[in-house]
Amino acid sequence: MHIKINDKPVQGDQMFRKEVLELSHAHIERCYQCYTCALGCPVAFATDFTPNQIIRMVLAGMKEQVLQSELIWMCASCETCAARCPNDVEIVKLMDTLRIMSLKGKPGKSVKDIPFMHKVFLKIVENCGRIYELGFIMGMKAGNPAGLMNVKALVEDGILGFKMFKRRKLAILPHRAKGWQHVQQMIKKIQEKNQSQEQTK
Ligand code: SF4
Ligand code: SF4
Repeated sequence: MHIKINDKPVQGDQMFRKEVLELSHAHIERCYQCYTCALGCPVAFATDFTPNQIIRMVLAGMKEQVLQSELIWMCASCETCAARCPNDVEIVKLMDTLRIMSLKGKPGKSVKDIPFMHKVFLKIVENCGRIYELGFIMGMKAGNPAGLMNVKALVEDGILGFKMFKRRKLAILPHRAKGWQHVQQMIKKIQEKNQSQEQTK
């Protein structure tokens, strides 16, 4: 994917640019587009934009394109980009900020299931202190009634699930991790903090 840059000034949303700079503290204004982050990013090959392109788009105020992009949801928070950046740009902080902003607006069509997937994942971790794969699959299926009508996909998933079960890769019942209560308390505290921040706005 190439971003076309012409010699006319970009008429972007400068409020969006300002908001991202203030909320993320990611120092994206230091970026000089060396492309190092994109070369090391393990998901860039499969997404619409590379990390350096997202930075350029934020600085240009391209709010809609940024908040609907695949990369902000497919970013694995692996920190490879931040570790290699010569200017200490903190791209993971940027991606976190953009995901929060995207949730408040309208995530792109191609990624609409991903925010729901995060919610299901976190709910299970909150209750078990770890992921429970079967519960996660069932939660995802329940959130997509149209998918339940796809008999072929259900049969394929069932066959795959059975193979995993035979190899002891899929537990029927959930297992709580040691100290799961601490994880639950931590998530609760974060939720309360977020709620109080929302109320003071
Ligand atoms: S590595 Fe750093 S300076 Fe280079 S393009 Fe990426 S964010 Fe910008
Ligand atoms: S943190 Fe995200 S953007 Fe950076 S290299 Fe990893 S997946 Fe790519």
